[in-house]
Amino acid sequence: MSDKYEVLKRFFGYSEFRNGQEELVDALLAKQDVLGIMPTGAGKSLCYQIPAIMTDGITLVISPLISLMKDQVNALVQQGVSAAYLNRSLNDAQYSKALANAGNRKYKIIYVAPERLESSSFLRFALNADISLVAVDEAHCVSQWGQDFRPSYLNITAFISKLIRRPVIGAFTATATEEVKNDIVRLLNLNEPIKVTTGFDRPNLFFSVMRPQNKSAELLKLIKERKNQSGIVYCSTRKRVEEVCDRLNESGISATRYHAGLDDEERVKNQDDFVYDRKDVMVATNAFGMGIDKSDVRFVIHYNMPKNIESYYQEAGRAGRDGENADCILLYSKADVSTCRYFIENTNDNEDLSPEQKELFRKREEERLKQMVFYCTTSDCLRGNMLRYFGEEYKDFCGKCSNCLTEFETVDVTIEAQKILSCIIRTGQFYGAKMITDVLRGVSSDRICRARLDRQSTFGIMNDAKATEIKYIIEKLKEQDYIISVGAGKPILRVTEMSYPVLKGKASVKIRKARQLKSTTQKAEIHAVDPELFDALKVVRTYFAKKKGVPAFVIFSDATLADMCRVMPTTEAEFLSVSGVGTNKLEKYGEAFLRVIRKYKPDKKGRLPFEIDNEKLNYFEYSDTPISVSAITVKVNELNKDGTRQKLKATDITEWLLDNGYLKMTEINSKKYKLPTPKGKILGLTTETRVNNDGEWYKVVLYNRTAQEFIIENIVLKTRTDN
Ligand code: ADP
Ligand code: ZN
Repeated sequence: MSDKYEVLKRFFGYSEFRNGQEELVDALLAKQDVLGIMPTGAGKSLCYQIPAIMTDGITLVISPLISLMKDQVNALVQQGVSAAYLNRSLNDAQYSKALANAGNRKYKIIYVAPERLESSSFLRFALNADISLVAVDEAHCVSQWGQDFRPSYLNITAFISKLIRRPVIGAFTATATEEVKNDIVRLLNLNEPIKVTTGFDRPNLFFSVMRPQNKSAELLKLIKERKNQSGIVYCSTRKRVEEVCDRLNESGISATRYHAGLDDEERVKNQDDFVYDRKDVMVATNAFGMGIDKSDVRFVIHYNMPKNIESYYQEAGRAGRDGENADCILLYSKADVSTCRYFIENTNDNEDLSPEQKELFRKREEERLKQMVFYCTTSDCLRGNMLRYFGEEYKDFCGKCSNCLTEFETVDVTIEAQKILSCIIRTGQFYGAKMITDVLRGVSSDRICRARLDRQSTFGIMNDAKATEIKYIIEKLKEQDYIISVGAGKPILRVTEMSYPVLKGKASVKIRKARQLKSTTQKAEIHAVDPELFDALKVVRTYFAKKKGVPAFVIFSDATLADMCRVMPTTEAEFLSVSGVGTNKLEKYGEAFLRVIRKYKPDKKGRLPFEIDNEKLNYFEYSDTPISVSAITVKVNELNKDGTRQKLKATDITEWLLDNGYLKMTEINSKKYKLPTPKGKILGLTTETRVNNDGEWYKVVLYNRTAQEFIIENIVLKTRTDN
């Protein structure tokens, strides 16, 4: 196959390359090494899969992620590309079989775990094979600077040097720091690679930060608003994962869980339940996600703030890989900051570091945490904040994050600030935010009375303010460095030098406050023209996914179903024009999906296909003498006469009877008739010969009362979603 566009459409069903893809494909086709740096979901796989299909010889894809291999291979096979994977999930017999097939050039693309490269059986195959391309997925694993260093990645170069001829090498990753980039080029021995870096922006993701009073209740609300959507909830600890998962299940949500404390078996099972849509929601620690290729994740909610923006962007980025809208929501609370700090203080997993290096590392982590907290508390555009963090330029307004959709106002809170600051000083700079708030509001709690704080001059001076309001101002005073909080566990508030001018009335304090929130989230509605059709298409997709034992998105992604709703194809050619439909899938699934779509397509007058209420049909007058099919349709259409629906046609009935073996096509005197089969005769169909005005005879089929009832129940009354 010679044309890359043809391959793109035929196997993958897309008509256009995305940003960066074409350059990488072209380079690999020209036998030029490449380094592709693209964010999750940008479409890296296609960049080596297309050259793999177009060049002679075998492509090896080296990937550390076993579960991902299976999905990728499934997807390729569905698209009509011969592919296989070799990893420890195969038993000995399966492995030998796959290897033998590979030796016989049965596969165009072979996924292999890096450890395999060293095994002698694999080497024996590789040395005799014509390997033209090696794609290294997750290439940052070769670097010790990266978070996911894999020592076996260091053997890739040695492996390649043993091959008869050096294949072209493509390295792909979503991590982009300079050290890692340099390591990849050096350690994989890339030969003057073409480097393509696409922007990190993911325009289909909606970013939102919320500070709910009650996270658990908020989470439940968010998930209930997203019925039947796939989503991930990230929590910071295993214990939290279990609590949250239990609570969701108690509330009738189908949720499962994942963390490193579960045994292998449960982890695999829970992950599959999620990927195969048996469970809607995955509650997990950050151990979950690497190597999950589920493209239709519609929301990622962080129940706790992660420890840095890198982690957040990676985890949140697992939403919406299919390019359709998805929500990334972070539920922030102050307590999350202490948890993160605890993690930073208490992880020293790298024993090779000197105390100084460790200290440096800790400082860096501390700085990253600060940036993360800033993200959670800023009132500027969230997307802009993150992209700038990754070194990209971005405008100040994206229009698709909770801050861009919030109207902020700047308010002068100098008076409130003076009251708060003096209360902190008068009580000896000895208490935390809660206590200070209580004193200001004049709460006579035991603790306050015992400490005689109720006799302080600042006691009750803000008694008409809400506690949340005071706490909010305290937060803002901290952000602007008027106050610092010291101590771990229960931090106490101290004022800084900046406070004194405020107290003396020489400086004013202004904060930004949300006036009105237009919407915190977009609820990731897929832009389907007709949600009913979208759901009906999902039913068909689930049917095929179950039948083939693959995840639903391997059949068609949400994006593809949504495009079907927009295009509303009724012919095969139109179906092929849908994004994500290639030739192979057209052949396998076209008819089934088209059949559903046709039921939803309005005619030229805007009338929807025929459909009738059960109620109306109760008035159908059955005839005790046999009648023709057109007599049946006339009666039905009479009952359904409100003009919004197309009429029931005789062929609607006879086609069904043909398909289901009650009628068959018969030729008599070179005239074609649909006549009853034996099965049809048992049902109550009879044939009558009639003569028309010109004296020619013809045959009609008549339906007795039982047959009429059968037709009404099974054909006329069918629901739109059945197929
Ligand atoms: P990555 O490996 O970069 O995270 P994938 O290769 O898994 O991303 O691709 C993410 C999604 O984007 C997949 O569903 C894929 O089918 C889709 N995709 C890739 N290229 C295109 C394209 N040119 N047009 C439309 N969708 C695409
Ligand atoms: Zn924004």
